[in-house]
Amino acid sequence: MNDSYYSPSLLKTANPQIFSLAKSAQSLDDMRKTLATYLFQVELEASEASNHDAATLARIRDTAQVLRNMIKQRSDDLSGFSFAQALYDIAKNTLRPDLSPAFFADVYHLLLGTQGLGSRKALDDVHLSAINDQGRAAAIIRSAQLDDLRTEVDNRIKNITTGLGRRAVTRRNKHRDKILATLGATLDDWQNWHWQIKNIIKDPELLQQLVRLSKEEKAAVKAAKANKLPFGITPYYVSLMDEEKKGRDLSIRAQVIPPADYIKQVDKSKQSSDLDFMGEEDTSPFDLITRRYPAICIFKPFNTCPQICVYCQRNWEIEDAMAPGAFAGMEKIDAAIEWIKDHPTIHEVLITGGDPLAMGDATITEILEKVADIPTVDRIRIGSRTPVTMPMRITADLADIISQFREVGRREIALTTHVQHPYEITPDLVTAVNRLRTRGIPVYNQLVYTFFVSKRFEASALRRQLRLIGIDPYYTFNTKGKEETLSYRVPIARLVQEQQEEARLLPGLERTDEAVFNVPRLGKNYLKSREHRDLLTILPNGARIYEFYSWEKNISSHSTTYSSEDVPILDYLKRLENDGENMTDYETIWYYF
Ligand code: SF4
Repeated sequence: MNDSYYSPSLLKTANPQIFSLAKSAQSLDDMRKTLATYLFQVELEASEASNHDAATLARIRDTAQVLRNMIKQRSDDLSGFSFAQALYDIAKNTLRPDLSPAFFADVYHLLLGTQGLGSRKALDDVHLSAINDQGRAAAIIRSAQLDDLRTEVDNRIKNITTGLGRRAVTRRNKHRDKILATLGATLDDWQNWHWQIKNIIKDPELLQQLVRLSKEEKAAVKAAKANKLPFGITPYYVSLMDEEKKGRDLSIRAQVIPPADYIKQVDKSKQSSDLDFMGEEDTSPFDLITRRYPAICIFKPFNTCPQICVYCQRNWEIEDAMAPGAFAGMEKIDAAIEWIKDHPTIHEVLITGGDPLAMGDATITEILEKVADIPTVDRIRIGSRTPVTMPMRITADLADIISQFREVGRREIALTTHVQHPYEITPDLVTAVNRLRTRGIPVYNQLVYTFFVSKRFEASALRRQLRLIGIDPYYTFNTKGKEETLSYRVPIARLVQEQQEEARLLPGLERTDEAVFNVPRLGKNYLKSREHRDLLTILPNGARIYEFYSWEKNISSHSTTYSSEDVPILDYLKRLENDGENMTDYETIWYYF
C-alpha cells in the first residue's frame, strides 16, 4: 500500500464536480451551502434513477449524507477541525501540508461513493446473481449460490487455528510439562487453582525460560515491572503460548505482554491521572458500586485478577495480579449490599472486579448469599475471566456453589466471560463451561474487538466455536480511546464491516452478540444501526471523529452526545498488510461509517 498514491490530485479525480463547485465558491460559507445542495441533489437523483441497483443507491445515499454532515459548521465546532475548510483549500490549490495520505485515502473513497463507485466485493470469489426464474427452479439456483457462499465462509474459518485441534492440544501438553518441570511441580498441582495463583508468573526472567520472547517483548515486560504496572500471567495461560513465537499465538501474547509504547503512554497517563477512561468514578454512587443503567449495577468486591489483560479498562484501579489488599473487606461489602437493598429498581447485580472468582469458595458463598437475599434482585451475573486464564478454578464444588442460587422463575444466575480468540479455547475451558452449563448456569462471552482478532472471519470462527462449547456470544466491544492501547485498536468501520460481511453469514444462534461502543459515562452505544452515531469529520491524520448519541436519546430530553476519535483506516490496513493479509479482502471498509 503506497502512501504517495493518495494525494490532493487523486482526490479531485474522484468527484471533479465537488471541486469545481468548491473552487467557484465565494467563501467557505458559500461553499458549505452549495455543496450541501449539490449532495442533496445527488441523493435525490439517485433515489429516482431507475438504472441504479440497491447497492449503488445505498452507496450514494450513505456517502452523500456523511459528506453533508461533515461540511457543517456544527461538525467543525464539535470536532475542532474544519473538514469544509480542507476541501475549500484543496479546491483553491492552497497548500495543506497537515493533510496526510490517510486523510486523502478516506476522503477519496467517500467521494467515489457519491458517484456510486468504489469496491463492492465483500468476498472475492462469490457472486450472488439475480435470479429470473420462479418457484422451485429459483430456489434451486438460490440454494446453489448459497452453497458457494457458505463454502467460502467454511474455507476461511477452517484456516483459523483453534485450541481444540489435536496438534494444539499436544503442543500445549508438552509445554505444560516443561513449565511443571521448571517450577518443580506435578500434574495435580497444575489442576489446583491455588497452585496456579501461587505461581503466577511475574518475573520477566522466568517468563523467558518458559517461552521465547522477542527483544521488544523482553524489554516491554521488564519496563512494565520497572514502572510498577500490573503484570502477571498464570502458568496455565503461559502454556497456551507457543514456545517459539510463530504468529499463531499472536492474540494470546498480545493479551498479556504489553507493547513498548503502551508502557510509555500509561506512565504519562498516570501522571495526568487520566487512566479512568470510562469515567467510572463519575458513575459510582457508592463505594464498590457503578451504575449506568436503570435496572443494573456493577458490584466490585475484589479488585484484582489472577492475570492482567494489557488493555483492561480498570487497570488504573488494579495494583498488581492478585495484589494483597484487593479484597474490599466484609464491612464495605455489607454496606454496598445495603445500598443495593435501598435501591429496589436494581434487578440485576453484576459482580465483577477484578475477578470475583479469584476469591475463595467461602467468601464467594457469603457474598452470593447476601446478594441473593435482596428480594428485588432477580439476576446475579458474575463477570470472570478465570474460565480462560485459569479454568481449573471452575471446580465442581464452585459450580455447585454458584448454581445453588439459581431459582427457576425467581432468580437467574449467569456468568459472563471474555474469550478473545479461538486459540484460547482449550479442553480445560470446555470442562469449565460444561460444569456450569450442566448445572443450569448460562455462560456468555464479551469479545473485545482488538487488532488481534480482527482479520477476516477470525471473530466468526470464535463465535462458532463458542457456541459449540456452550458459550453464547453476548457483546463485541469496539476498542476505544486510550492512547496507550493504540496498537490494539481497530477502526469502527472494520467492526461494522465484520458484522455485515462476516457475522451476517453465520446462523442466527452463532451471531447473538451485539457490536457496541462503550461510551464513557453514557454506557453502550449500539453499532448495528447508524442512527446511534454520526461521522463528524476526518482529521488530517485520517482518523474519523464520530458523535455518539446516548441510549437515553429517545427517553430523555437532556441526553448529551459524546465525540470520539477513531484510528485511521489506512494505518489499520497497512498493519494488516504487514501481517500478510490480502488487501482486496478489506476494500469495502471505507463505506462503513
Ligand atoms: S480479567 Fe477483566 S478486570 Fe481482570 S485484567 Fe482482564 S479485563 Fe481487567
